[in-house]
Amino acid sequence: MKKTMKYLASIILMSIVLFTACDKTDGVENTEITQSVDFRTTQLTQIEADMSAAYAEMGSEQIMQCIYDCLNSMPVEELSENEIEALTFVREEELLAHDVYQALYALFPVPVFNHISNSESLHAYAMKVLLDKYNLPDPAENHVAGTFTNQVIQQLYNDLVAFGSENIGNALIVGATIEDVDIDDLIYHLENDIDNQDLTYAIEQLYKGSRNHLRAFNAHLVFRNITYTPQYISQELFDNITGSPWEFGSGFCVCNCNVSVNTSEKISR
Ligand code: ZN
Ligand code: ZN
Repeated sequence: MKKTMKYLASIILMSIVLFTACDKTDGVENTEITQSVDFRTTQLTQIEADMSAAYAEMGSEQIMQCIYDCLNSMPVEELSENEIEALTFVREEELLAHDVYQALYALFPVPVFNHISNSESLHAYAMKVLLDKYNLPDPAENHVAGTFTNQVIQQLYNDLVAFGSENIGNALIVGATIEDVDIDDLIYHLENDIDNQDLTYAIEQLYKGSRNHLRAFNAHLVFRNITYTPQYISQELFDNITGSPWEFGSGFCVCNCNVSVNTSEKISR
């Protein structure tokens, strides 16, 4: 978990560095690597169509029911300290993503923020289902948007919203940065902290969601000629994710026939 804290605490510094780097990509020297407007438009249109289709596929209530049934159908296993810590942290981390995207959507009404924000609330709900299943306290009980128990997350929220509020470019960089951190963090938990079937399955679904979110924010950034350089995951993984198509379907709704399919292993670090 110290790794998570370190990652999250440095996010703002990184965003500022990234933004400086992005200014350079607008310069003449990079003109030759800039993709054509047509290509960028086609790519963004495809991602937007996939995202809209994915979110129209099933309503939030239906997915919440799937999440509840799926995670409660798996055996109750003893949780380690690391698993409890990961579960508690990720619960607020997902709400952070939700709240930041909502705050940015209020300023920049681009649907990507609203779509992804809805997805983050489902991710946060999955963690809540597990907290309840194991009778653990919810750090976000009576959650008020933008208010967090974990002070690292609180500071992060304040900084991210302040940075993202400056302009739409910053707002999209904040989106890519949150997903970059989340993916690295989720992989870390999968590899080091967790082994229970239910928690592992849930974290794999969050990872899949984050891959889609990264695809969406990156398509918007590329469309605006902003190059996002991943700071947490490898460039190889970033390219692998953003170069592959949208992943459809909620793993929570095909839970019982899908437990042996480990989607996160298909894209290696
Ligand atoms: Zn998420
Ligand atoms: Zn996300």
